[in-house]
Amino acid sequence: MITLTGRKISEGIAIGKLSFYKRDVKEIKQIFVKDVEKEVARFQKAREKAAAELGTLYSNSVVDVGEANAAIFEMQQQILEDTEFQDKVTGIIVEKKLNAEYAIQETAQYFIEYGEESEQTYFQGHDADIRDVSLRVIRILSRNWKDKLLADEPFILAASEIYPSEAVQLEKSKVLGFVTRYGTINSHTAVIARTRGIPSVVGLGEVLKDEYEGKTIIVDGFEGKVYIEPDYTTLTRMKKRQNTNRETTKNLERLKGKENITQSGQKIDICANIATREDIENVIRSDAGGVGLFRSEFLYMENGGKLPTEEQQFHVYKLAAESMGTKRVVIRTADLGGDKMVEFLDMQKENNPALGYRGIRISLEKEEVFKTQLRAILRASVYGNVSIMFPMVTSVEEVKTAKLLLERMKKELSMEKTAYNKAIEVGVMIETPAAVMISGELAREVDFFSIGTNDLLQFTLGMDRNNAKVERYYNPHHPALLKMLRIVTNNGHLEEKRISICGDLAADLTLTEYFLQLGIDELSVAPNQVLGLRKKIREIQ
Ligand code: PEP
Ligand code: MG
Repeated sequence: MITLTGRKISEGIAIGKLSFYKRDVKEIKQIFVKDVEKEVARFQKAREKAAAELGTLYSNSVVDVGEANAAIFEMQQQILEDTEFQDKVTGIIVEKKLNAEYAIQETAQYFIEYGEESEQTYFQGHDADIRDVSLRVIRILSRNWKDKLLADEPFILAASEIYPSEAVQLEKSKVLGFVTRYGTINSHTAVIARTRGIPSVVGLGEVLKDEYEGKTIIVDGFEGKVYIEPDYTTLTRMKKRQNTNRETTKNLERLKGKENITQSGQKIDICANIATREDIENVIRSDAGGVGLFRSEFLYMENGGKLPTEEQQFHVYKLAAESMGTKRVVIRTADLGGDKMVEFLDMQKENNPALGYRGIRISLEKEEVFKTQLRAILRASVYGNVSIMFPMVTSVEEVKTAKLLLERMKKELSMEKTAYNKAIEVGVMIETPAAVMISGELAREVDFFSIGTNDLLQFTLGMDRNNAKVERYYNPHHPALLKMLRIVTNNGHLEEKRISICGDLAADLTLTEYFLQLGIDELSVAPNQVLGLRKKIREIQ
């Protein structure tokens, strides 16, 4: 047995086989094959699977983005069905006795170069689609991580690092846990792991070796330990811990339907944080009082490098609103930037991304992208109790401009006779020291505040939340931060505005009493932290 120690980012025990994440098909090797028939069959099987995937993508997209936009998937499917394309691949495999991956790559290159000479329009000037569709088949052949997600056996994912845009695509039913060589507790990858309740340990370093692929491992997300090929005693101990944990979770279930009230009668709301539509179900199960933070940027990040359309967004927001009934759903407009990167915004590499082009700054600059989102949120607002929230605010002017655009979108919808909630509440994230200092002025502009302690802490301490080197100085109980919480709450309450905390500190049970003393109105935590927090509140005098 080998024991590795890292940093725990999400609690729980996971036991399973380790599988390394292969980010991209980087280099396709030319491999000589003996059994060409078998290789052709391999190609055909992967091709059929890819065509079926495209078929599903097409039918889903027709609903979400309309027939015209979905047509791209139909065209890619035609490329795969094309006999000339198939013959070319098969020809290379049979005649040159080469592997399917290489044959597909060669074929794609051929059609990119000579597509114009083909009779079929789908080969003409569609270089990107030819490349895209070929890569889809190659990926299926290479059985990379996404295909593993489609496989039956759940597994534990290992990687040097997992980016937030990748983490958000991890399905809890397939990925039992994850372990990485690098990464930090406060990154958005960690936030997603906690939101999904995936036991995870990061920062194991180079001792997490590739050769552990396929081995049985245990991830102890309580202690930040990883056991490779555990011995009998460890396995028994960890299974016991896993059962105790399940038992604790089960016991908490009896608190469902109960109030978040202290022994002396003080009440506070508990809401849940989500990132994508997959998380909505967990919020319902958690018995939270609503969605306190919908990190909508993850809809952009999981959309395969494409901007989500108004329809796509509308459907997800509507689902959240309807699922929550009369409970609040606070949709934060896209807080992109920092470690939340997307391809379509053409974001440049920055020296200080945490202090860079982020959140509301991007939205106000990319007005069309912002307006699309505002329209989608407004349209969804008639299906439940939706509020809108702006991230990374540093000035009153930013809020005024954002509100002006919101009013313009309202007018547009009125003219189109499209329904929306005219009295939709508007709030801001308080996550920069500037916002703290002007919280009095900001309170007069909005209906509520939500304190983002994750960013507020990094900006207050001047320490990058994604930099492992400064992690040991990163004190979430720093008096400066605790004082700021008091300032914001006082200023907000003077204007009779609602105050929530939606950063990770909201789930810190050693601070619950302090939050109650401050008079915080709402704490918004990961869905699986809701009942534990309720228990804590009910025990306080
Ligand atoms: C925060 O900064 O505390 C917050 C809730 O936003 P995020 O973690 O998504 O940056
Ligand atoms: Mg933040």
